[in-house]
Amino acid sequence: MTHSRFGYQVLDSCSRTHARTGVFETPHGPVQTPAFMPVGTRATVKGVLPRDLLEVGSQMVLANTYHMHLRPGEDTVRELGGLHTMMGWDGPILTDSGGYQVFSMGDICRIDEEGVSFKSIVDGGEVRFTPERVVEIQRALGADVAMAFDQCPPGTASRQEVERATDRTHRWLERCVKRHRELGGEESGQALFGIVQGGAHEDLRGASVEAVCAHDLVGYAIGGVSVGEQPELIRRVVEHSAPLLPADRPRYLMGVGTPKDFFDAIASGIDLFDCVTPTRNARNHTVFTSRGRLNIRNRGFLEDQRSMDPECDCMACTRFNLGTLRHLCTTGEMLGGTLLSIHNLRFFHHTMERIRQAISEDRFEELRGDLVERLSRRVAPDEL
Ligand SMILES: [Zn+2]
Repeated sequence: MTHSRFGYQVLDSCSRTHARTGVFETPHGPVQTPAFMPVGTRATVKGVLPRDLLEVGSQMVLANTYHMHLRPGEDTVRELGGLHTMMGWDGPILTDSGGYQVFSMGDICRIDEEGVSFKSIVDGGEVRFTPERVVEIQRALGADVAMAFDQCPPGTASRQEVERATDRTHRWLERCVKRHRELGGEESGQALFGIVQGGAHEDLRGASVEAVCAHDLVGYAIGGVSVGEQPELIRRVVEHSAPLLPADRPRYLMGVGTPKDFFDAIASGIDLFDCVTPTRNARNHTVFTSRGRLNIRNRGFLEDQRSMDPECDCMACTRFNLGTLRHLCTTGEMLGGTLLSIHNLRFFHHTMERIRQAISEDRFEELRGDLVERLSRRVAPDEL
């Protein structure tokens, strides 16, 4: 790949699936793929210090354009030194385009060809996003990767609505690419990824891959798969669309998901993931472990001296026992949410490390067979 300051190289490929390992080069360093990117919605991965992110194996993190635009505003972010400075994070950062937030939580006033107007969740004032504006906002935020502005139809949309939104996403992409180039393109230190839409319709997804990949971009994403569809539908969409994306560019599945979802998507050739699940679940006191999912507040853990996950090397599992973690969570101590977030992130990254290792040794399917069922189980204290 020839984009300056960015590159993607496939290292190993699975002989039975589309799974691959690779390195995505960015101005702030390399990302070993497949990789999971923690979400730092408002320029912070909630409750987790940057040094702990490094320690648990985070390579690249996300921030949300929608939230940063509303508060504190991209001009303030730029004045403060950009997202890397604000987040205390020297590694790669990606910003989403805000499309998902506008269309999923936005109180939309008007969608037209030019852009979309919505009510701010902060003060109720009307905000206008256009493809050009969203590229400009992301440039001011200063992440390594910016996402094109897309119209993300809800999971309940009719085929006709999905088709219209997908076509518009393609026209908006052209405008995003144009504005991105006017602002210096990749030379500026920021890459633009295009987003494939098309809902659950294979033909629309196929046409969207073609339209989006007609632009020579650093990477491509599959969007619109975390808007309330059935897991089986998501799996089918990804299975169909991911292998159609160029093999020499990183492929990013937006907003997915859980360790179980990773295996299916990676088997289809996906390299990058992001989701709020590890940190949001941690704040709700649910953890992913090598034996399944646990609710830490369960009374059965009251005097439990065991480690939350003996196979985990994180701070929560090596320095605290289950009973203590339960105490911190039931009393609402801040440290509870922090420790569980650290654990869940470590669990996600460790799963990715095991997947990368397995692909390099061509035993991805064996690892998938070993882990997938265990990962999706819910376990009670007496089942540990
Ligand atoms: Zn742990």
